[in-house]
Amino acid sequence: MNTKATYPPSIDAIARELTAQSSLPHAILVDCARRAVADGSDNTVATAKELVREFETSLHQDVINATGVLLHTNLGRAPLVMNSSGRSTNLEFNLETGERGSRQDATAALISHLVGAEDAIVVNNNAAAVMLVLAALAEGRDVAVSRGESVEIGGGFRIPDVMEQSGARLVDVGTTNRTRLRDYARAIDSRRNDIALVMKVHPSNFAIEGFTEGTSIAQLATLEVPVVADIGSGLLDNTAPWLHGFTEQVPSWITGEPAARQALADGADLVTFSGDKLLGGPQCGIIAGRADLIDACASHPLMRALRPGGHTLTSLQSVLLSYSARTACTDIPFWQMVSMSSVDLEARATSIVSEAGIGSVVSVDSLVGAGSAPGSTIASFGIALNGDYRDALRHHSIPVIARTFDKVTYLDMRSVSPADDHIVVAALASLR
Ligand SMILES: *Cc1c(COP(=O)(O)O)cnc(C)c1O
Repeated sequence: MNTKATYPPSIDAIARELTAQSSLPHAILVDCARRAVADGSDNTVATAKELVREFETSLHQDVINATGVLLHTNLGRAPLVMNSSGRSTNLEFNLETGERGSRQDATAALISHLVGAEDAIVVNNNAAAVMLVLAALAEGRDVAVSRGESVEIGGGFRIPDVMEQSGARLVDVGTTNRTRLRDYARAIDSRRNDIALVMKVHPSNFAIEGFTEGTSIAQLATLEVPVVADIGSGLLDNTAPWLHGFTEQVPSWITGEPAARQALADGADLVTFSGDKLLGGPQCGIIAGRADLIDACASHPLMRALRPGGHTLTSLQSVLLSYSARTACTDIPFWQMVSMSSVDLEARATSIVSEAGIGSVVSVDSLVGAGSAPGSTIASFGIALNGDYRDALRHHSIPVIARTFDKVTYLDMRSVSPADDHIVVAALASLR
């Protein structure tokens, strides 16, 4: 090997210099060195170091969400500990009989119990849940959707596109602002249509106001075709029994959200929702409702491609057990954030400001995020810093993500776990 320094520096020499700065695998450092040389820049070492830094920051890592958006789509929606012993599990093994079992049975039983459904099934996300329902129950047939609910949720989930991919045909019903029961009835009665399902989609991230009229699930349930409600948010029950004893009253934004238990009680044949929104669990999609319809979904060929992994099901199971045990407010990070009292939030902000020696305590408004409760805010406390410190905070060893408004940087304590307050202190102290 030629170790003599030559011009331009050898790939190997640059890679060795990078080792001092980074613990990335040698092969990655060599690749950065190679790209820097190919780049032909004047200072190959500096370019290579920059490439290493870019690679390091691109790696998935912990961040502190101080934005006050509790379910931040860019920060992974609901935060959650995913525990694994590293051992094998009985994922598809029945310990009772010693024979092959179903990965779905345990979570299906817990979901059914919590929302009052006959059966349930879990897939990779709610987009997959909607896709599977349409493919299994309406392929080659028509699905009636209100024009006001033919929406885009974000991240490329658009009802007309999902419908097309599933092989079902979208039949627009009513108008953008008003859709009545008789609009659906007319679509079903029309000889031109072959309506397999009526789908009600929660518009999630927007609200239309003014001269509007929608058709409730209870009304839709009087029609002779199955009703599927895509509630999206993942709220299990809008009476939120798990909050009792943890908050003075159930917050009004919760009572206004569509919920699985109430949608089924009102007559929906199936509901679909996300696992990592208001449920506060791992990324997954849940379909719950009539057993015969769930069976049709479970036996559709797409199911094999959409089934969730064991880690997802195990962490979903522990989240569901926490709801059953009414310990959601202590066990599930999202509900911890929601139920944190103003007194505690103010006390935390006060002690962080005094320890870090910078900033001032202010009242702020948290947002639920992930398209849930649009327009609603939750009163909170935070820390204000004069000036825009977003970049500096984001470059802290554990990145702290803040917001700015009118050249003031705000850190909301509600979206920060109390266990991470010392990280916020260190990040703020480094700004002095
Ligand atoms: C969020 C949402 C989706 C998409 O769910 P993912 O879990 O992100 O795939 C679909 N429908 C509604 C109504 C939603 O709110």
